Amino acid sequence: MTSSEPLLSEAECNAFWQSVENVRAAVSRQIAADPRPAAVIGFVQSVQQGIDAVVKARFSRGAQPDCKAGCSHCCHTCVEALPAEVFRIARHLAGCATEDVKNIQVRLAQQIAADNGAQSWKDRPACAFLQNNRCSIYEIRPGVCRKTHSLDVKQCASSASEIPEDLGVLLDAEALIKGTADAYHASGYESAGTELARSVLMALTNPGLEARWHQGERLFEGVGVTAISSTLTL
Ligand code: SF4
Repeated sequence: MTSSEPLLSEAECNAFWQSVENVRAAVSRQIAADPRPAAVIGFVQSVQQGIDAVVKARFSRGAQPDCKAGCSHCCHTCVEALPAEVFRIARHLAGCATEDVKNIQVRLAQQIAADNGAQSWKDRPACAFLQNNRCSIYEIRPGVCRKTHSLDVKQCASSASEIPEDLGVLLDAEALIKGTADAYHASGYESAGTELARSVLMALTNPGLEARWHQGERLFEGVGVTAISSTLTL
């Protein structure tokens, strides 16, 4: 394939956008059925489980990911999360010991201060949640982290700006993430992906932030994703 050829055929593009619409419609119904704050935040768990299922199904019948426990190149990329994912993580951390919350706030601030927007993962700080080369919020990590599986760790280690990923996983996971974001947007919530470290630190240090999000305020504008992101661009 030459670089000028489109990534997807017209039929594949249409199928992707139909999947996005199906997810949007399903998630919108869920939000309308139970708009309580805890339910609206907690619903992203279903989406994340959907991404886990996509990854599991795809890799059970095709190429295997080259990632191994303890490998963390992609944890140096710029991670984008939905606002609902940010607040889910903040809710989880708020239930931890005060000392642990203070420590993660320090780590997040250090990560943000060290982030100079570099493209190569080698020049970027690790995610504040990466501890002893493992994700310390693995069960509640964002969908972007769940979908990212490299087909060639050597390429990740070579400072390449892109992680070689399975296109089928990317498409199915992106349809889930975009359809979910569209549903939040249609339901009146800020929904654009926002940079994980800055957004979680904002949520931890502004106790009323989640309530303002439920009221439809735009809180994360300008907290953009500035460097490497594994988000698919069609
Ligand atoms: S949240 Fe976890 S998986 Fe995602 S970048 Fe951070 S440490 Fe890695």
